[in-house]
Amino acid sequence: MFQQLEYAEQTTIKGLLGRPPAMVGADAQVPVVTGGKRRYVNLDYAASAPCLTSVRDAVAALLPWYSSVHRGTGYKSQLTTSAYEGARDAVHSFIGARPDDAVVFTRNTTDAINLLAAALPADTEVFTFAAEHHANLLPWRRRRVTHLPVPGSPEQALELLQTALAAARSENLLVAVTGASNVTGEIWPYAEIAPLAHRYGARVFVDAAQLAPHRIIDMAADGIDYLALSGHKLYAPFGAGALIGRSDWLAAGEPFLAGGGAVRYVGLDEVLWADLPDRQEAGSPNVVGAVALGVACRTLQAADREMLATHEAELIDLAQERLGAVPGVEQYRMWAVGSPRIGVLPFNLSTVPYAQLAAVLSAEYGIGVRHGCFCAHPLMVALLGIDPAADADIYRSLTKGDTMAMPGAVRLSLGLGTSRHDVEALLEAVETVATDGPRWSYQSSPDGTDCWPDPDLRPGPALPFELSLERR
Ligand code: PMP
Repeated sequence: MFQQLEYAEQTTIKGLLGRPPAMVGADAQVPVVTGGKRRYVNLDYAASAPCLTSVRDAVAALLPWYSSVHRGTGYKSQLTTSAYEGARDAVHSFIGARPDDAVVFTRNTTDAINLLAAALPADTEVFTFAAEHHANLLPWRRRRVTHLPVPGSPEQALELLQTALAAARSENLLVAVTGASNVTGEIWPYAEIAPLAHRYGARVFVDAAQLAPHRIIDMAADGIDYLALSGHKLYAPFGAGALIGRSDWLAAGEPFLAGGGAVRYVGLDEVLWADLPDRQEAGSPNVVGAVALGVACRTLQAADREMLATHEAELIDLAQERLGAVPGVEQYRMWAVGSPRIGVLPFNLSTVPYAQLAAVLSAEYGIGVRHGCFCAHPLMVALLGIDPAADADIYRSLTKGDTMAMPGAVRLSLGLGTSRHDVEALLEAVETVATDGPRWSYQSSPDGTDCWPDPDLRPGPALPFELSLERR
């Protein structure tokens, strides 16, 4: 009945080649504590990326037509259903899934991995690395999981995996690995991991939360069995993500969530679950989020992604080189310099604690970065060279309720809208802080994970709603 996502395709595809898609809020001016305003320099894409203008426009165009999905016969319901299912096709195409792969909309990558963990056959043994984001570590603990150590090279990752898989005894095996590290940006050798895993009868899950915004992914060609991604990291911050992959495990047994929409028949003692994807999408879906994600996928597909990746590599090389020349700066990586990576770079400055450095960059220079352990504690322990006894001490102290200094770093991360000016602004700021120190006074939380300017008289923006930003 409807041309699926027709609006989105018309508004996003034309004229994109050769320049990055536009971002909402790219020219935002933010106040700084020393007075006046600066253009906001966003170097925190790895946490959450800004919204594409194509996504914002598509959401605005959808909302007047928004209604219930699936069983509604109203004109608006059918149009909304068409857009929702069109978004599923867009995600499927974006990551090069096989024709019979299921696309299940979730809240985010965390939700997607928990769904997959719940769907694994009961005897499944999962193999993962200590370098993973917590979202790709903790859900597997509900099954049998082997944690392989942080490898010293991509080759060692393959060797460790091969040894572990050769010793595995379960009938069902799953290798769960990230596409690109959210801490170091290094790209995992997932295209080599897949054939290795398959030789041992294992399936492969790729956590593409970080990889998908930066690289073209071809699930079918690379033999990826399952993949998860988040809309808010893909320039579609409307609360949807996706799990894509082989249907059999996802369609067996109880669904992750039980409820309306996931069933064909319900008696007081019996239930017949629906086929995929409905079976794994109980409850009213996040239609706006899914359409936003679909439009972001189409927009990225229409962009010159090779050119964008080259541009990003130049910027990250520049950042590594200039930071390498700043006295007191230490950068962190798992593997040799030159290993393929996305635009993510963690570092510390010896003279200013990580949380304070992040606060200084924001308060004095208008630059947004991330600090802490980036939801990857075991990897950060390895990168920071914290010895196992000291790590065990941290755990013991925390369980006793003691406050202790928590380790961490600052992370800059790049995305579609990052310019050379942005990276240079950060480099100049770090160089200045390294020589002159902070120009304002700051307070820190007792564990050192949080720091803020004191006093902080920066005004908030005028917004047309009452949800005020509570400032300290
Ligand atoms: N995996 C990786 C590699 C990530 O970077 C993140 C988010 N930082 C996640 C999983 C979890 O994503 P989400 O918070 O969107 O569920």
